[in-house]
Amino acid sequence: MRALSNALTTGRVHHAFLFAGTRGVGKTTVARILARCLNCEQGVTAEPCGSCAACKGIEEGRFVDLIEVDAASRTGIDDIRELLDNVQYTPASGRFKIYLIDEIHMLSKAAFNALLKTLEEPPPHVKFLFATTDPERLPVTVLSRCLQFNLKRLPFTAIVERMAEICTAEGISADAASLGLLARAGGGSMRDSLSLLDQALAFGNGQLRDSEVAEMLGTMDRGRVIGLLELVAQGDVRAVIDALRALDEYVPDYQVLLGDIAAYLQRVALIQLAGEAALDEPDHAAALSALASSLDPETTQLYYEIAVQGRRDIDLAPDPQLGFEMVMLRMLAFRPLDAAAQPPAGATPVARQARQPGATPAAPPAAAPGESAQWSAVIGELGVDGAARQLAMHCALIGQSAGEMRLGIKPADSHLLTEQQKTRLVAALRRRFGDGIRISIEITEAQADITPAGVDAQRENEAMMRARAAIESDPNVRELASVFGAQVLPDSVRPGRAGAVKRDS
Ligand SMILES: [Zn+2]
Repeated sequence: MRALSNALTTGRVHHAFLFAGTRGVGKTTVARILARCLNCEQGVTAEPCGSCAACKGIEEGRFVDLIEVDAASRTGIDDIRELLDNVQYTPASGRFKIYLIDEIHMLSKAAFNALLKTLEEPPPHVKFLFATTDPERLPVTVLSRCLQFNLKRLPFTAIVERMAEICTAEGISADAASLGLLARAGGGSMRDSLSLLDQALAFGNGQLRDSEVAEMLGTMDRGRVIGLLELVAQGDVRAVIDALRALDEYVPDYQVLLGDIAAYLQRVALIQLAGEAALDEPDHAAALSALASSLDPETTQLYYEIAVQGRRDIDLAPDPQLGFEMVMLRMLAFRPLDAAAQPPAGATPVARQARQPGATPAAPPAAAPGESAQWSAVIGELGVDGAARQLAMHCALIGQSAGEMRLGIKPADSHLLTEQQKTRLVAALRRRFGDGIRISIEITEAQADITPAGVDAQRENEAMMRARAAIESDPNVRELASVFGAQVLPDSVRPGRAGAVKRDS
């Protein structure tokens, strides 16, 4: 970054830049800022004026000398040749003709070779800005000719704050709960989060209400992805197939979905080896912990390999949905033969006990300091979903003995305790611990904070504090500030402008 700043000041700038980072992190936004730095009418500068025709044109996406290409849709040699044929012509109005190629790793080998020829001897009036989520898929010959920047994912708090700013500017009253739900569902991607905010506003007729946001997200929550993994872990083929059919109705991007699955499996492996405390992100921690105890570490590694391999090969499948289904079926096929018969290596003592033959009713988990985690693990074993799972998550185990289990739920959460969900939860507990077990659920204020949901909330709170500290001390953030100037920084890491729900792509 320092090198870039100096280069911009002295006018000796690289001719190719690579911005790498996960989806929605602001790669193309930063690239467009660099385009302004290079083409600002005030001169090549680390601090573009923002008001000249070039700066404004780039910002509004109508600057003729900034040519943006999505390599994901134009991967072939002919596309690149057509593009490079024009490289020799001088810029129409700017200082430099800038090619911004997004998802550059998607180019074919032949296309990369054609591009390399130009990169080796670029005309002086041309700059290349590349963006990629996957820099390792670039040929080293291309990589070696680029100045590379790695952009980090945004912390949860930064996304929530940005959405709050936008809502304030738009005169929309937004509660923290709604914004938290949206940011979490956006999975650390500003772009995805803002897109969800857009959808939530459309869904709520311009209003943001957490009940409606939750309802909307229920159809696209990433919890669905974890749910699918849970079914695979249980080896329930029929349920996996049903879930796949249901999933397809939301027309997901299957390649992205496989990336999500691989990312979740990585976190499951992390929990298995280092414990839940090693997670640096709070979302879905309880569900992932449950998954960590129902899979053994070898199977987790195997599933990860299958997901990554599947993601790489999905373009070769007859269509993405079939490719995705095949990956899930492969996971089921590679399930260790004895996984259903024996407790997995990571299983909690509760699970072992429950599976012992003749243990009917088995003793429920002992109420001990780790009881919240144990209850959490029990929930993972129950295989309940939806409202029944929510009910379980908001319950605490407040007492037990052989043949009896007492659960407590806070008065504030007691709306979850409907007759229907109670029946489902009790039925699931009886399936797990035996028909003879007596189960009661009391509405009580006592021990309310040790519910799995309470633990999640507390962990999230701590993570938000850490995230706040991290963004303030992040060297990338500081570097960006020093290169682009403090006023420019908010744009570079937070796509969109106050007053408009706008996204980069
Ligand atoms: Zn300018």
